[in-house]
Amino acid sequence: MRTVNKNYKHMKKLLIVLLLMPALFSAAQTAPQKREKKSKTDAGTFAKTITADDLKKHLYIVAGKEMEGRETATPGQKKAAAYIEDQFRSLGLTPGNHGDYQLQYPVYQDSLTNTSIEINGKTFDLDKDFSVNVGQTSPSVYRFSEIVFVGNGVVDSARDDYKGLDVRGKAVLLLPAPAPQGQGQGRGGFGNQFARIDAAQKNGAVAVLVIGTNFPRQQKTNPKGNMYLSAFQRVIRPNQFQVSEQIAQAIMGNDYATAKSGTIVPKTYTANLMLSFNKATTNLQSSDVLGVLEGTDLKDEYVFVTGHYDHLGKRGDSIIYYGADDDGSGTVSVLEIAEAFTKAKAAGNGPRRTMIFMTVSGEEKGLWGSQYYTEHPVFPLEKTTVDLNIDMIGRIDASRKQGDSTNYVYVVGDDKVSTDLKPISEAVNKKYTRMELDYKFNDPKDPNRIYFRSDHYNFARKGVPIIFYYDGMLGADYHRPTDTPDKIYYDLLAKRAQLVFYTSWEMANRNDMLKRDIPLDAPRGF
Ligand SMILES: [Zn+2]
Repeated sequence: MRTVNKNYKHMKKLLIVLLLMPALFSAAQTAPQKREKKSKTDAGTFAKTITADDLKKHLYIVAGKEMEGRETATPGQKKAAAYIEDQFRSLGLTPGNHGDYQLQYPVYQDSLTNTSIEINGKTFDLDKDFSVNVGQTSPSVYRFSEIVFVGNGVVDSARDDYKGLDVRGKAVLLLPAPAPQGQGQGRGGFGNQFARIDAAQKNGAVAVLVIGTNFPRQQKTNPKGNMYLSAFQRVIRPNQFQVSEQIAQAIMGNDYATAKSGTIVPKTYTANLMLSFNKATTNLQSSDVLGVLEGTDLKDEYVFVTGHYDHLGKRGDSIIYYGADDDGSGTVSVLEIAEAFTKAKAAGNGPRRTMIFMTVSGEEKGLWGSQYYTEHPVFPLEKTTVDLNIDMIGRIDASRKQGDSTNYVYVVGDDKVSTDLKPISEAVNKKYTRMELDYKFNDPKDPNRIYFRSDHYNFARKGVPIIFYYDGMLGADYHRPTDTPDKIYYDLLAKRAQLVFYTSWEMANRNDMLKRDIPLDAPRGF
């Protein structure tokens, strides 16, 4: 489960895809084979092979020390991928990516090589006098002979600090962020800062110096920037430096004290300013792991069962983010569900549709693995009837421990793309598992916005019906090193994994693909 969502900018594309869907699907629904295959053996025989013991055995490996927290594009992630690939191979699943089990995708990471600020020949140092965001800054050496002081640099409905100033192609100097005023200031200081950089950019500034009062910095700049998925950006932002009051004085002289005390006069200052920033970009790789169990008479249609195997990695050598529930629990469930299907096939009860078991990485970074897959699908998305995604199903929501039922799972998204799906999901549960299917997190008004926070969402935004299974663990151990395998309720994990198995069994064997009859919903309320 990822922390925050940044995906909403993709939504317009979705709507277009959606409008094209009915035409694609009317063809799919007239499948030639209409006979319902009579099961020789009931699904229950194979569901029983999904056991608490097997899940536990896998999870102590996947969420063990060896895997180092499975951070995307690190050795720990690659070890986890290798383990999953081995399991798929020994189950007899075939490789899901043109002969390979792993679908590699590129990941980028910046590291700072050097940066400095020089004013009239005097050099200022990183962390002592300025700071910079390694990921968001472009390599450059700028030499300016003029700097424009624009006060707070605020542009909103009530004021325009750039009025009468020409800052195109120039460096601007801004006072510390003003305190947020009432409603409409967004996320307080941060939102305000973003808006101020935006205003500088819209006015044409190429570099922004923001004065800060907290220098020298206690926390040193991390020379490694965050990883990112695309090396190309739609918009290059102005380079932004947080600078000390000493730097402000070196540019403005005594005017800075006057401006700080409240008498703000926008003005262009003459000074030789050099802003230098350089970084190296490393190309890394991460992967999704795909195992395939071929179907019988409907083998050109696909059922996906997914979970993410990446987590948050480690800090230093001693602190490991084990990610046992998030999402070791989903990863080992995918393995066990795959095993149940292979046993069924060996007993002459193979699925009619082709089963794709996919564990993805990059989830914690921003749903990257599922984004990459759905933008480069190996199996046609229009022939993919459903994605059943599992992210955190081994724990109990703390608020339920005093409540009436711990025999539950949160179900999200089953009513978002196809009206077929929810009744089937409920009927399967009623027949086999009899858990409480709790739709609390499916409420669009729920502030946790769970629907947008795991990999099923990338399938849904392409029009593939989805169900997301989730335990509601957002308490003390969420995204902490204490999310460990000893805290998992293995019997409950097995039962939830069995529910996903039964549901995928039904998806694989029913006559028709799920119809896609609900318009895709653009996310609201951001
Ligand atoms: Zn997570």
